[in-house]
Amino acid sequence: MTVLNSAPGRAGPSFWSKLTQPVRAYTEWLHTCWPAGTPEKLPVVNEDGSTAVPGLYVVGDLTGIPLLKFSADTGAKAIQTIVADPTFKRGGTPGGYDVVIIGAGVSGMAAALEAKKAGLKFLIVEATEKFSTIVNFPKGKHIFTYPTDMVPAGDLQFHADTKEGLVEEITAQTIGVEVRKERVDRVAREGGMLKVYLNAQKGMPMETLPAQRVIVAIGRSGNFRKLGAKGEEKGKVYNRLHDPKEFAGKNVLVVGGGDSAAETAIACTQAGANVTFSFRGKQLDRPKPENVEKVHMLAADPAADVRVERPSSERQSTAVGKYMGAMTPGKMTILPESKVTTIHDDKVELTDGAGAMVSLDNDVVFSMIGREAPLDFFRRSGVPIHGERSVKWWVTLSLFMMFCIWMFHWKKGGVHITGIAAVDKILDMGHWWEKLGWFPYNMPGWLVGHVSVSFANPAHLFGVLSIALKSPGFYYSLAYCSCVVIFGIDRIRRRKTPYIRNQTICLAFIQCFFLFVLPFLLLPWAGHNGWFATGTTMGGIADRLFEPYDAMGHDRAYWRAFGLILAWPLFFFNVFTDQPMWWWLGISIAQTFIFIPIAIYFYGKGVYCGWICSCGALAETLGDRHRTKMPHGPFWNRFNMVGQVFLAFAMLLLVLRVAGWTLGTGSRPDLIFHYLYERMPVFNYKWFVDLLWAGIFGVGLYFWFSGRVWCRFACPLAALMHIYARFSKFGIVADKKKCISCNVCTTVCHQGIDVMNFANKGLPMKDPQCVRCSACVQSCPTGVLTFGMTDKMGNTTRTDKTPASRLHMVELKVNGKAMAH
Ligand SMILES: Cc1cc2nc3c(=O)[nH]c(=O)nc-3n(C[C@H](O)[C@H](O)[C@H](O)COP(=O)(O)OP(=O)(O)OC[C@H]3O[C@@H](n4cnc5c(N)ncnc54)[C@H](O)[C@@H]3O)c2cc1C
Ligand code: SF4
Ligand code: SF4
Repeated sequence: MTVLNSAPGRAGPSFWSKLTQPVRAYTEWLHTCWPAGTPEKLPVVNEDGSTAVPGLYVVGDLTGIPLLKFSADTGAKAIQTIVADPTFKRGGTPGGYDVVIIGAGVSGMAAALEAKKAGLKFLIVEATEKFSTIVNFPKGKHIFTYPTDMVPAGDLQFHADTKEGLVEEITAQTIGVEVRKERVDRVAREGGMLKVYLNAQKGMPMETLPAQRVIVAIGRSGNFRKLGAKGEEKGKVYNRLHDPKEFAGKNVLVVGGGDSAAETAIACTQAGANVTFSFRGKQLDRPKPENVEKVHMLAADPAADVRVERPSSERQSTAVGKYMGAMTPGKMTILPESKVTTIHDDKVELTDGAGAMVSLDNDVVFSMIGREAPLDFFRRSGVPIHGERSVKWWVTLSLFMMFCIWMFHWKKGGVHITGIAAVDKILDMGHWWEKLGWFPYNMPGWLVGHVSVSFANPAHLFGVLSIALKSPGFYYSLAYCSCVVIFGIDRIRRRKTPYIRNQTICLAFIQCFFLFVLPFLLLPWAGHNGWFATGTTMGGIADRLFEPYDAMGHDRAYWRAFGLILAWPLFFFNVFTDQPMWWWLGISIAQTFIFIPIAIYFYGKGVYCGWICSCGALAETLGDRHRTKMPHGPFWNRFNMVGQVFLAFAMLLLVLRVAGWTLGTGSRPDLIFHYLYERMPVFNYKWFVDLLWAGIFGVGLYFWFSGRVWCRFACPLAALMHIYARFSKFGIVADKKKCISCNVCTTVCHQGIDVMNFANKGLPMKDPQCVRCSACVQSCPTGVLTFGMTDKMGNTTRTDKTPASRLHMVELKVNGKAMAH
């Protein structure tokens, strides 16, 4: 095999590096060994195609799924949404259009057909030619019409299975739709209407088209990523390979680390070209394993029988057979860790892994480093881009964080922040709010005076309610439950799978019953009515679980019932007590060290995070529409270790707590425990971990970084479960053949997992971060993914029975019918 790679001389590892080696190895084992690709940057678009610019809609590939049927569907539906909008008035833009459609690709033409049907005054503007993306597909390209059973909205439909058939079919369906040939520069909202600015000749003013609504359907095809090399604009640099035979006997440089680059290199070598394959990484780890194998086979023996019969993804445009008709095969040289610096007419210059310059004879360059959305168009038009932070983004985030700082301190009195009593007193809003007798502390008195005297009777349900109503925590829990229920209904309606329905109902029930009705109403009501009287069996149980307590006005500490659901160290108050509460210790140990690990072994960490936990309940309901805001990539994956630090902190406290109990109050471990737990300035566990991270950051970052910030990065219970999950049988198994590498699964994962990188290689997804939310399974347009179990070798041993993908439900129905016949 020909591999050019110089091994740079390296000095031995430093003392610091040796010291931190175990931590790095542990981090690698737990979190950084997994693929860490990032989602593609796309404009921020709502589900109906609308954007932050009123009246401007985005459809087609730019909404996320690069498939013909989805593109056509979004185009037609955008017109249906516009027509149904009560603020839209036909002919409401004097001298202008009802709708201007930018781009005459699949989605734009589907929108045009729908607009024609609705009798709208519309114009479609196209930079090159009708259906240019499809017209430019390679000759004879096979067309996938995924999902097979989907019928897109509107009149544009697809049945052909070759490029030529498809062009003929869609051209025939759009006869009579006139297209104006112009490139659009941007869209702006001016004087109560939208204006579409057309590209002008140099020195000429831009023509504008006034419109009430604008549909942007410009696809992603034309925007290939740049190499950043000198001479990149030369005519010999291509982004697609149409006919490998053209390059027989030529010196070809292929650049890129994915499947399209690998398959281009294979095709050109087989067609008789002298290929150099350059990529940035140390080795080829992004392409499918069989493509990597083929590259290495050809590098070792150019005459090897290597075939790529079917394009591997929608970005792939080569079909390769043995030798491609060449008299003699070519040659393949692999150049890892290299970067193209200059492209000359007859040469290329690259730097290799050691930084040395390599000069190669060259006739043609294939830059196969992917495409990206035309983001500048959207920036010029004022449409926000995912992951880009504007002034408004920072201002709204800061204001919401300030609200959360106030709310969590108001909710929780008695916190120690700075260690300086006077400062802590000011920051401790809960306490001075209470001293001033402001809402909600005045509620019992007000209710007795204005509503009913029954509110003064703690044995009456009103009395129980009255006590609860003076606690800020009651309102917080009420708001929490309401969000889980309201946004849970929204989630069930939008995602429509039995898995989502069952999961959401389970989360809402646990949240509402165990974390609200039971501790705030049912247990106190039972207690005040003598159910837990001393000397009775129930009283004996209550004595062990809910000690006598009057801070809230109840007879016992019923709030400890949270511990029935929330396990240590997420909920630690039942374990870090002054004297051991043996029953709670038993419950906590059983939860954290027996039941949870057993359940995780079979079903993954999501069994708790996705089906039981209250943090998960809010994240999967209120947070469902914000899931794509979670940052991905290797940089962020390192922050997954914050939870491990907090877990270590909790473990240390546990050891000190047990030692303190054993050696007695006032002993050294007891004193250190209290210092670290609640007295240390800023970094005490109660304030720093529980209030700042779980509360303020956890909720405060919801609408800017998704609802799983706390769960993914910092929760100490999750951190422990990540370790358990490394030994789990659970995996998301993938049907590799169906994967079109669209990246949707990675984009929707609010745990930052690069799901696509497992799926397109046919590997089970084993990243311990998975919370079984099912968003990837449900959103995959081709039904690649299924929850399941695997053996140690990664072979699937079982798949879930409850459907989590709409596509699988249709397949089940079809198969069921077929079997019935
Ligand atoms: C090589 C390849 C193979 C594929 N194979 C399949 C397959 O087998 N099955 C499948 O389902 N999908 C496949 N796809 C995906 C499918 O082609 C796309 O999903 C679909 O074409 C997207 O339609 P669209 O309307 O969003 O964008 P496009 O079809 O890309 O149309 C965008 C149009 O906008 C125009 N435009 C761009 N900028 C401007 C501007 N500023 N002003 C005016 N006009 C502008 C462009 O010229 C273009 O005509 C493939 C894609 C590629 C690239
Ligand atoms: S189910 Fe999918 S989307 Fe949800 S956390 Fe797991 S990998 Fe991510
Ligand atoms: S598995 Fe992921 S990348 Fe593959 S088709 Fe499904 S959503 Fe797209």
